[in-house]
Amino acid sequence: NQSYTLIIIGGGPIGIACALEAKKRNIDYLIVEKGTLVNSLYNYPVNMTFFSTSERLEIGGVPFVSNNPKPTRNEALEYYRRVASDNHINIHLFEEVININKIPTGNEELYYELETNKTKYNASYIIISTGFYDIPYLLNVPGENLPKVKHYYKDPHYYAFQKVIVVGAQNSAVDAALETWRKGAEVTMVIRGPEVGQRVKYWVRPDIENRIKEGSIKAYYNSRILAIREKEVEIETPEGIIKLENDWVLALTGYQPDLPFLRKIGIELCNDESCKPTYKEDTHETNQKNIYLAGVICGGMNTHRLFIENSREHAVRILEDIAKKIL
Ligand code: FAD
Repeated sequence: NQSYTLIIIGGGPIGIACALEAKKRNIDYLIVEKGTLVNSLYNYPVNMTFFSTSERLEIGGVPFVSNNPKPTRNEALEYYRRVASDNHINIHLFEEVININKIPTGNEELYYELETNKTKYNASYIIISTGFYDIPYLLNVPGENLPKVKHYYKDPHYYAFQKVIVVGAQNSAVDAALETWRKGAEVTMVIRGPEVGQRVKYWVRPDIENRIKEGSIKAYYNSRILAIREKEVEIETPEGIIKLENDWVLALTGYQPDLPFLRKIGIELCNDESCKPTYKEDTHETNQKNIYLAGVICGGMNTHRLFIENSREHAVRILEDIAKKIL
């Protein structure tokens, strides 16, 4: 097995921030990333604009220059790729970590063996920064596995002149509804609650509310999809069950972190609905010695509380702790 002092699981912005901090302290490390560099950002809608201004997305003190105060997805991809290449980040891409085994060495020391879909590594310290964008919440209705049902939305042009149902009422759903409608799709929103989500960006809310009020985008509130078929969708509404002709379903009901992975390796999770993993607030070390959590995964199911701008600091806290233990 190849051996490293530190292995970082996940090459998102926070995994890269951890790598930069490790490099600063001359700690040898490897990032193992299951997709492309900053895979979550790569999978965002192609026209997406961040809600953060660019300086709040900076990592390792490298300036992020964007044309407008809030950068686009493409600018962010450029930025994180340049940060990674300029710093010669040590990363293995398209390699997924499947399991972590604790190897006792007989004395106080221990090391971990990481099993990926390609090979095995040894590491003394592990940072898990796996984000939350890989597992979509499913509707769990018949027909969900049809190719016309998408859990990720990329590009509005594809849906021009098509009958599109958008399920959900938070930012991803609202952005997709507005974008596809503006490119000529006939859009219907199916919303579980009585209104558009409370967390929708305040500058976007009037746009969606006015499109719904004027009837340009149709919305069924307090409603849910019952079944999806090739040419139609069945919806339960307060007025009864209806059938709508339909070409595409964008099921944008959110994403969840891979908490089963944390459980599997013995990290304790809170018993309440947050399922927040156990870690020390000052160092981010979990109940498993020398395994740390960084980035949005730290919030458990509360995936909207932590984002890039308020979890960049995790990298510094963790690497300060590891450096102290090594010296
Ligand atoms: P991620 O960026 O999700 O990175 C985790 C990485 O781990 C991924 O690349 C994934 O492929 C990899 N991975 C997962 N499991 C494994 C495994 N088993 N083995 C190997 N690799 C694995 N935040 C902001 O601060 N500002 C914004 O404006 C903003 N806008 C957003 C807009 C959208 C549409 C969305 C969805 C999110 C937005 N966020 C924003 C949130 C932000 O993207 C996340 O908080 C951020 O990506 C978290 O970084 P991370 O490094 O913790 O996780």
